[in-house]
Amino acid sequence: MAGVVGELFLIATPIGNLSDITMRALEALRTVDLVAAEDTRTARKLFSRYQISTPLISLHDNSSAKRLDDLLKRLQGGEAIGVISEAGTPGISDPGYRLIQMAAEAVIRITPIPGACAAVAALCASALPLDSFYFAGFLPVRSGPRLRRLESLKDIEATLIFYESPRRLNSTLETLEKVLGDRLACVARELTKIHEEFLRFPLSQLRALGSERDWRGEITLLVSGCDLESRSRDPQILLEEEGKLKACLADLDFVKNRSNRDLVEILMAEFPLLKRRRIYEIVLSSTP
Ligand code: SAM
Repeated sequence: MAGVVGELFLIATPIGNLSDITMRALEALRTVDLVAAEDTRTARKLFSRYQISTPLISLHDNSSAKRLDDLLKRLQGGEAIGVISEAGTPGISDPGYRLIQMAAEAVIRITPIPGACAAVAALCASALPLDSFYFAGFLPVRSGPRLRRLESLKDIEATLIFYESPRRLNSTLETLEKVLGDRLACVARELTKIHEEFLRFPLSQLRALGSERDWRGEITLLVSGCDLESRSRDPQILLEEEGKLKACLADLDFVKNRSNRDLVEILMAEFPLLKRRRIYEIVLSSTP
């Protein structure tokens, strides 16, 4: 496939069932000059199933800058390079992003070859709203950053999608319920594999289920988005939000050099549950 201008192909591979690969992906894997794979052992299994003999090289999050530079040079020299991750779509909670950025900066053509992605497969069968969704990937492992991340997702009205390890699922379910409330959720497990299952329950019930079973396999977790409408009618929640807003206004660095009008605009984005008029009243009563 070598030519004057190189091309970077982002090739989706199966997330379990090896038949989930497109004709176009197979053609690209056969014809590129080189495939950069997150895990060359998994890639070899796929290659042997489809009799592909394209040279492989590894590309993962810890790949050296030299490895990335070499790949970029080969692209600039006119080679076609495919990127595959261990499973699914490259770059989605997987390596690839740095090379994609470098190729874009060097004005190399980047071609996606779409296919399996656990987030999308889980979402479409979750029975949670599909009109709008937010891919949150893996939550931070440490509890402080984890809580802060979840707090930042609390008011999002779209269905939330997380990747999670079976070991951490129970504690994640517990934290999600604590921070987001007892929302409807779905554990999508072992998609496209023999033990595929979808458990569609409120978080509290999933947690109860989790205390009785040992989660295994690959897990995508989905949680329904915030119902801003009903939250903004809950007096207790509104009181808490007003308390947080007042705390912001008590911070001199925050109010310094800002007009009341600017403050209202900024706070409206920060406190979507509160009405503009109420924010305005609090700003007026809190600023000199
Ligand atoms: N790039 C992949 C994609 O497009 O979906 C995701 C890679 S990420 C490192 C791996 C995580 O995706 C797993 O820990 C799990 O949360 C989710 N996942 C991957 N395969 C899955 C499957 N067959 N069933 C459910 N979740 C899966």
